[in-house]
Amino acid sequence: MATVVDLRSDTVTRPTPGMMAAMASAPLGDDVFGDDPSVNALQEKIAAMLGFEAALFVPTGTQSNLCAILSHCQRGDEYIVGQMQHCYRWEGGGGAVFGSVQPQPLEHQPDGSLRLADIEAAIKPDDPHFARTRLLALENTLAGKLLPLAYIEQATQLAQRKGLARHLDGARLFNAAAAQAAPSDGDVRGQARRIAQCFDSVSVCFSKGLGAPAGSALCGSRELIARARRVRKMAGGAMRQAGLLAAAASYALDHHVDRLAQDHALAQRLAAGLANLPGVQVETPQTNMVFVDLVGPAREQSKALLAHLAGRGVLATGLYRLRFATHLDLDAAGVDHAIAAIRQFFETSDRPIPPFRSTT
Ligand SMILES: *Cc1c(COP(=O)(O)O)cnc(C)c1O
Repeated sequence: MATVVDLRSDTVTRPTPGMMAAMASAPLGDDVFGDDPSVNALQEKIAAMLGFEAALFVPTGTQSNLCAILSHCQRGDEYIVGQMQHCYRWEGGGGAVFGSVQPQPLEHQPDGSLRLADIEAAIKPDDPHFARTRLLALENTLAGKLLPLAYIEQATQLAQRKGLARHLDGARLFNAAAAQAAPSDGDVRGQARRIAQCFDSVSVCFSKGLGAPAGSALCGSRELIARARRVRKMAGGAMRQAGLLAAAASYALDHHVDRLAQDHALAQRLAAGLANLPGVQVETPQTNMVFVDLVGPAREQSKALLAHLAGRGVLATGLYRLRFATHLDLDAAGVDHAIAAIRQFFETSDRPIPPFRSTT
């Protein structure tokens, strides 16, 4: 079938015609010489938006986090981080590989937060036995979940009291801000800035919900960003006429921030459409991710379900726990098509259900 409802990730979006036009008309230069006007404008725009002195445009969120970790920490230092955070679990151990920086991972609470007592207990005293604890890294949103602003304030104040630097992996910071902005004023940018200002550095992705083809920015003090620029060069991330990409990111900041609430509404629509379906447990989504647990006999059927969906033009990821991400290239009709395809799988009576196998 021609129509594909791609719910694998919010990274699958294509640039819109408006974004393409912005890219095509972007003034360009060599950014390694600091000469690309579009890169410079983007860096100034995102730094000002989030209340930082400076920002650095990098090809990926992974490199942005790497630049942050290596700019805050020296060889033999450590950073406190959650088990499921991207900059611990999903980045090939880059901080350890490239920087000899040791992660100190902590378990998450069910809401995605790290317990303040766990953070405090993980901070090592100044003693030659221990790595030097230098940095607390948080992530918001984490698997689509929101960290409450009050929690972020407490955790980052604790870190500051203990002399740690604070980094936010805000790949989806604007999703968090869109979900938390007061419905009365809907000030998404103001909320993003309030969150960002709790940290010494913040990484944001333009290639996720914001819909740009590539690129992230690391924001921080002028001094931190100067160090990060050196790491970016070492990591091979200094690009030349990168303004082509920066222009897309800049367009996304102007046009795609306020619409993130629509993605969240589509996630709610998807979750509501799957409610009360036997074999399926749906978590109420907080932002643009819907997690669907397959339970009971259906637990063994994730592969069959994904294949059934792919045959109907619906793409998702997961095993036991399926993930559906909503984004810019999706509309209510696409979501309704996905709901119908999922329901059809569970409601078709002639499909044999394999016997339940206990894993214990
Ligand atoms: C996607 C993502 C990244 C990394 O971004 P890439 O551009 O894919 O390297 C970092 N952190 C979080 C939370 C992400 O979701």
